[in-house]
Amino acid sequence: RVRRTYEVAVEDEQATKPSDAEVQRDKTEVKSRYQPDVVLKKSRYNTNNEPHNNNPPRYKASQSDQKFILQQEYIDNKGFMDIQRKKELLQGNKVKVKDDKRSRQQIWEEKQLRNAVVGSNIDEIKVENSDRYEYVFDTEATIAFTSDQEDELPEEGETLSTEDARLLEELERERSRLLSIQETRKLLPVYQYREPLLKAIRDNQVLIIVGETGSGKTTQLPQYLIEDGYTAGGKYQIGVTQPRRVAATSVATRVSDEMEVILGQEVGYSIRFEDKTTSGKTLLKYMTDGMLLREFLTDRNLTKYSCIMIDEAHERTLATDILLGLIKDILPKRKDLKLLISSATMNSKRFSEFFNDCPIFTVPGRRFPVDIHYTLQPEANYIQAAITTIFQIHTTQKLPGDILVFLTGQEEIESMRENLEEISQKLGSRIKQLLITPIYANLPQEQQSNIFQKTPKDCRKIVLATNIAETSLTIDGIKYVIDPGFVKENSYVPSSNITQLLTVPCSKASVDQRAGRAGRVGPGKCFRLFTKWSYNNELEMMPKPEIVRTNLSHTILLLLSLGVKDLLNFPFLDKPSIPSFTKSLENLYILGALNNKGDITKLGEMMCEFPCEPEFGKVLYSSAIDERCNGTLSECLTIVSMLHETMSLFIGKKKEALSSIMSEVESDHLFYLEIYNQWKGVGYSRTWCQDHKIQFKTLLRVKNIRNQLFNCCKKLGLIDKDKEALESRSNDKEKNSRITKCFISGFATNVAKLGPTGYRTTGKSTGGLSISIHPSSIVFQNYKEKAMKPYKAILYQQLMLTSKEYIRDCIPVPEESWLTEMMPHVFK
Ligand code: ADP
Ligand code: MG
Repeated sequence: RVRRTYEVAVEDEQATKPSDAEVQRDKTEVKSRYQPDVVLKKSRYNTNNEPHNNNPPRYKASQSDQKFILQQEYIDNKGFMDIQRKKELLQGNKVKVKDDKRSRQQIWEEKQLRNAVVGSNIDEIKVENSDRYEYVFDTEATIAFTSDQEDELPEEGETLSTEDARLLEELERERSRLLSIQETRKLLPVYQYREPLLKAIRDNQVLIIVGETGSGKTTQLPQYLIEDGYTAGGKYQIGVTQPRRVAATSVATRVSDEMEVILGQEVGYSIRFEDKTTSGKTLLKYMTDGMLLREFLTDRNLTKYSCIMIDEAHERTLATDILLGLIKDILPKRKDLKLLISSATMNSKRFSEFFNDCPIFTVPGRRFPVDIHYTLQPEANYIQAAITTIFQIHTTQKLPGDILVFLTGQEEIESMRENLEEISQKLGSRIKQLLITPIYANLPQEQQSNIFQKTPKDCRKIVLATNIAETSLTIDGIKYVIDPGFVKENSYVPSSNITQLLTVPCSKASVDQRAGRAGRVGPGKCFRLFTKWSYNNELEMMPKPEIVRTNLSHTILLLLSLGVKDLLNFPFLDKPSIPSFTKSLENLYILGALNNKGDITKLGEMMCEFPCEPEFGKVLYSSAIDERCNGTLSECLTIVSMLHETMSLFIGKKKEALSSIMSEVESDHLFYLEIYNQWKGVGYSRTWCQDHKIQFKTLLRVKNIRNQLFNCCKKLGLIDKDKEALESRSNDKEKNSRITKCFISGFATNVAKLGPTGYRTTGKSTGGLSISIHPSSIVFQNYKEKAMKPYKAILYQQLMLTSKEYIRDCIPVPEESWLTEMMPHVFK
């Protein structure tokens, strides 16, 4: 859908015919700039069946290669820096791993890690014999770019005057001389402003801090605050919020390293289901904005904090917006509380106005010039265009100079990684090595730190990132940015009550921010895979704040349970629309969280207690309390916990795991339950996971989530109720249907019914949206392989609107009567 608008825009562009002069200029531009280049094409020449090359290219494990592995050794198995180990290694007391003593697990893990990190970097690569194509350089199929600059893009090598080159060289030498972390800290732009900053904080309760990404706001400011005594020797904490989990954990790791303390002690982090802090000891806590929001439930005035820093406020996540409103409310009561709001340059004014024109402190950043290049034509396939551009850069531009590519999500990133690895294997020694490192929210933590590894000599690092690398993470050494100009964004339509995750064009502010990532270490280049016309005419100025494009049910429930009664007059930076409010209240009413007067019910309060979506809270509640389906708490606890981690559960395809674990199962939910139970049955074994292609670490996380939810149930008295129910029930035959009913009680709005044209969602006002079951779902596989008669209704956990409307993680509802039985007010 998005693609289409994009193409329409293209026609528009052609409709506004360029002047002759422009055409002429474009032509010369096409010729003069960017001739390079490499494109990977099936060869026209080598068409016989002979393998092209009988001597497969060999890679030697270079020294830098070893360095890379060595660095891995001080990352412990949770993905954190093992400081003691690191020190030992650096001092030369290498911890030797005896080869013959390595367990199967260790060998396997190492192999996985190597596969995952440096696919092209193994000792020997075989060119498959069956492959009769050769990758060749083709000058015709390259992507032409136009530049923002009036003058031409200088050829590499001529770029710098000798004076510049000398200065840069000197700079480089200087950089490597100042190796120690403490000295690196002093090089960051904020360091020069340490005193004035601290003074401004002393003088003002609220301060907006604006600075270039990478200037040290996130890592340095909180340390300055500790040094300036804001923690009063451990009496108070400093809390720093981040919109993303990855940022919270990675920054906390970095700062604990800088402060030479163990992560989780003086410096810790808190993300959902994972609290790595020590009470009484932790001074500085990085956390997701959602976590701080939850803290209001137990401590309405945030009494344990002396200072809160809302970082990356410009991202305008829902939780950040609500936090700003709530904190604004407590500031008069907590005169001693300091609030810092850090933001990229965009919309810092808005924040200042919101807080009664509080001062804005700008940290002047250093940023080198970045040449912006646009494509001459819109690219129909931005993935392919990005790959081509990567190789154009890699083969024409000198090393060092890493490349950062902005993609929209995990799937895109993983498929591009495979693609790049395959191509670079085929090109073999004709190109310098590529080190491909992905970064996205669901990437296992132990792999996340790879993006910060120093690029080995004679090698180019390619970072494939979601917009997490736009501002939250700073990766040193990036010289080229490739920006397709898209981002995945939630979009909620109250009338249909459906949240879609759409790929939409970025805002101007975002693409400018992305381009800036190329100019941190020296002059850089940014290749935009869209036209200049599109930049000037199609892009929005700013990204839309999440609060105006998301389902507000959970937030409203939270606000109500915090005692915020007058929702419409809550201080919102941007007020959500009235239909959005009404729909959310209606959803909460359906769930039983509100009564018909709009007051929060006991059940509603209970749902808030769970550290997960209220819908899941309702499922757990029903499984213990509701007579129609109780006695299933244990199973529901497992399923709910598993559903939180399905994204990184399987190594390889879900189907493979299915056939190796059990022969028949009717729903994804029961499959997840079976996985967990079998794993538990063998004593939570690692080997079992290996044998069934399941991520051991993911299951460990599931176990941890389950524990937390269990404790919460215990606190609410649900465990005892469930026991009573179990005792009163003699047979266990109906268990699976009871589980289904529990999920109906929580996710009544996520039901699709079978009609003449297939499954449709059951939106009351819209008549439903036609959907398909995702091929990864057990239900899909059952239909396909066992030619089963389709169920009348299906409950789903996720609806994804991509090329097709897919539902994921499904549980069939064999009897429609169950719907009316459980949720009469929805299905009558
Ligand atoms: P800001 O918040 O202003 O964008 P940061 O405080 O995040 O800046 O980063 C400051 C510097 O610290 C960066 O330029 C980078 O060099 C370094 N840095 C930050 N995080 C890491 C990390 N996880 N590993 C290595 N270096 C890091
Ligand atoms: Mg930051």
